[in-house]
Parts: sequence; C-alpha cells; structure tokens
Amino acid sequence: MPHSKTSDPHGFKRRGVLFVLSSPSGAGKSTIARKLLEADSSLQMSVSATTRSMRPGEVDGRDYHFVDLEQFRQMVSDQQFLEWAHVFGNRYGTPRAPVDAMLADGRDVLFDIDWQGAQQLHQIAGGDVVRVFILPPSMEELERRLRGRATDSEEVIDGRMGRAHGEIAHWDGYDYVLVNDDADACFAKVQTILQAERMKRSRQTGLIGFIRKMNPAGPV
Ligand code: ADP
Ligand code: 5GP
Repeated sequence: MPHSKTSDPHGFKRRGVLFVLSSPSGAGKSTIARKLLEADSSLQMSVSATTRSMRPGEVDGRDYHFVDLEQFRQMVSDQQFLEWAHVFGNRYGTPRAPVDAMLADGRDVLFDIDWQGAQQLHQIAGGDVVRVFILPPSMEELERRLRGRATDSEEVIDGRMGRAHGEIAHWDGYDYVLVNDDADACFAKVQTILQAERMKRSRQTGLIGFIRKMNPAGPV
C-alpha cells in the first residue's frame, strides 16, 4: 500500500488508515459513515462493485458500481479487487485502483464492507487496517430501525433480521466493537478511534526525521 502524506500536527508523513465499518444491516453504519465523511475531508469512501440490482434512490458510481455477473467475473480474473465476497446471494468487491490512488493522495479510506471483506483486507494490508463493528442496542431496536428507515419490504426486513445473528457472530474479528445506542455518542466514539489510530507511532513514518533533527548526534 502506498504511503500517504497528511496535515497532522507537524506535517509528519504517515501511512494511510484503511478504516472498515461493518454492522448488521440497520444498526446505523451508513449514518455514521455519512457523518464521518462530512466531518473529515481527509477521509474518502471506497465505492464497491456489486452484482445486486440498484435500489430506488441509489446512484451508480456513488453508492456502488453496479455491474453484471460477467463484468464482475472479469474484474476478479483481472485482479481488480482488493477483496471480494458473496453476500446474501450477490457478489461485492472493493476495486483496488481507487484505494491505491486515495492513499497515494494522502487520504484515509473508509470501507462499508462485511466481515469477509474486513478479514481479507486485514490479511493483505495488516496494520494499515482498522476494523470497527457496530452493534444495535438490541434485536428489537434493530428491527425498529429497519422499519423506521422505510426503504425495504416486509420480506426484505425479515431477511435482514434473519441474517443479523450470523453477522453479529463475527464481532470478534474486529479491533473495536461499539453499541450504537445514542447516534451522536457513537459517532463521537468512531471519530475518536480514527483520530487515535492516525496518531499511532507505527503509522508516523515521518517521525524518525523529526527525532533526528532534534538530536542529530543521538540514536534514533
Ligand atoms: P445501516 O447502514 O447499518 O444499514 P442506517 O445507517 O441506514 O443502517 O440506519 C438504519 C436506520 O436507523 C436509519 O433510519 C437511521 O436514521 C436510524 N438510526 C441510525 N442510528 C441510529 C441511532 N443511534 N438511534 C436511532 N436511530 C438510528
Ligand atoms: P447492501 O446490499 O445492503 O448495500 O450491502 C450488503 C452487505 O454487503 C453489507 O454488509 C455491506 O457492508 C457489504 N458490502 C458492501 N460492499 C462490499 C464489498 O465491497 N465487499 C464486501 N466483502 N462486502 C461488501
């Protein structure tokens, strides 16, 4: 993965963060992702490719790159994906080139991907990846949120509820697990995690130069 240069205090160069948000559908991950992107100009969203059909209100290229099975298979064989997986009967994948470009441009990258994607990304990019899992306060509240969102039919809501337990079972594949009770409080925690992760010594590749300047004769 390319290094990124950021506007952190002192302008140290650092490695970009690959920030993964996962949750069972309806727990509030898109809401948090939207707020993060609004609040933080150095963070950019990775737009996945998918074979599922477009939902009303979705925009091709903004929400997903909507492709057919043939195109998806071609992208897989051309090794265009950083990771890809079958999710709920469709295929989803993270295009590699835009992620490389965002990191090279000094950005951190936000991923809304499932546990399989988080696992694969962690395998290939290890310490650059930060994985956050969002839990609902309860299954009842999860169902209330899915209904309140009013984007899905009864059948789709039942399907999402049916799959929620399976997704929650992967909570231990994440670095941070948060309960999204109060939306503002949860958002603040996610922001804190991102800010702290950016400051990790292992990401601050520009630190050595700074230390050398302070103490040219000393050890680094
Ligand atoms: P996801 O992306 O995880 O499927 P959304 O972000 O679409 O979930 O949230 C599902 C619904 O719940 C939306 O209507 C959203 O406004 C609402 N919501 C999100 N977070 C909270 C919260 N902390 N408390 C109450 N409602 C919430
Ligand atoms: P939806 O169809 O509701 O938008 O997304 C369904 C699930 O697919 C969500 O859990 C979402 O996080 C996951 N997903 C979206 N894009 C990708 C991707 O590129 N890779 C993987 N592994 N999962 C994805």
